[in-house]
Amino acid sequence: MGFYGIVPNKTWEVNPEVLTERERIEDIQAAAARIQRTLLMIPGPTAIAPEVLAAGARPVLSHSDPLLRNFVSESLARLRNVFDAPSSQPIIMAGSGTLAMDVGLANLVEPGDRVLILESGVFAGRFKQIAARNSAEIRVETAPLGRGLDLDQVRRAIESFRPKVMTITHVDTSTGVRLEVEPLARMARERDVLVLVDGVCSIGGEEFHGDAWGVDLAFTASQKALGAPPGLAVLTVGPRARAARENRTSEFPGYFTDITMWLPVMEGYESGTPGYFGTPAVTLLTMLHTALEELAAEPMPIRVLRHAWIASAFKAGIAALGLESVAAPESIANTLTVVRNPEGVGDELVDAVHVEGVSIARAIHPELRGRSFRVGHMGVCGPAEILTTLGAIERGLYRVGHRVDFGASLSAAQQILANPPGQVRSDAAERVMRT
Ligand code: PMP
Repeated sequence: MGFYGIVPNKTWEVNPEVLTERERIEDIQAAAARIQRTLLMIPGPTAIAPEVLAAGARPVLSHSDPLLRNFVSESLARLRNVFDAPSSQPIIMAGSGTLAMDVGLANLVEPGDRVLILESGVFAGRFKQIAARNSAEIRVETAPLGRGLDLDQVRRAIESFRPKVMTITHVDTSTGVRLEVEPLARMARERDVLVLVDGVCSIGGEEFHGDAWGVDLAFTASQKALGAPPGLAVLTVGPRARAARENRTSEFPGYFTDITMWLPVMEGYESGTPGYFGTPAVTLLTMLHTALEELAAEPMPIRVLRHAWIASAFKAGIAALGLESVAAPESIANTLTVVRNPEGVGDELVDAVHVEGVSIARAIHPELRGRSFRVGHMGVCGPAEILTTLGAIERGLYRVGHRVDFGASLSAAQQILANPPGQVRSDAAERVMRT
């Protein structure tokens, strides 16, 4: 008799006499999931590389230690590259993406200023609240669920409303919709509107060219596609955004959120004369430095292609299970997928997938709650994570009583994973593919 009544060398056979209530198969599976550690596949925080984890284990450094100064100045230079915004000054602050939203928008608007908010999911709602708290006049242009915004609709809104600032949520994490920043930003720029981009769920994973696209201020957070733990907000402030802040006529009501306090500190790090405003999160900065070092080892165009490749494998897997993504194909993001549940299946699916060892997220959009789930595939994510996740989703669906053609999603994903973009396939590989 084997361990816990399982007969060794047989395929999953259990002696019912030895199996007690406490040792049900579910318990054993749950224990296995715990041992393996749950695979983190939510759309942030995301799993981080062991090197980044190890960087957090170093003794706390003084914020004026030359090593830390070096870490910060290198990180700032790398962030300028990730945002592809050579004309901007990056700022790293202790806080989450919401702090970056607050800092980004509040510094650009004065009471009575007009803010045009492009809405493709719930995260635009935060811009609305921040704009309202700064006594701005607000107009919202909303995309249909799962779709991008019509360019003519936005042009008309800009021309009739004449905003000072337009906000774009590059990838909305509640719908999995990616907006096309380039044409939207160009349209705003041509009409002298400041362009503010929420890149929390995109930058580091999706194509982004801050300067070339005419973005004035963009931001992300450490826990998404940058591959670091949560706790840092990252912004790039372009010359027009800086001028808007400096030319304010009313007093800026924030203190910690005032970019004029932070810009000289960050510039100081880069010029070798760092100043102090608030104690920096030194351990997180050390981890971010390692994450950005890893990131820099992968040229940005390759990183973007990797995300697209991994995303398409995941989406093919989902489609093979007969499931649909909320985002339409032309608007779908590469950093996460929001998937509609099969008819009659609710949030118990997310719990079942968790028991199978993979942490995925419930829906947060009011129209999708209880009817869909979200999977992040950004940062440190490759074929192993995609296949493990699809396998767990298949078992989760089975657990909640849905009929599953086991292996269907894995097979579909494998076809794509075996053929990375741009790979020149050998004749042998071609033959394998045909058989
Ligand atoms: N914007 C987007 C698009 C996001 O996905 C999130 C977080 N999910 C935020 C803003 C807010 O970021 P945080 O949770 O780090 O405050």
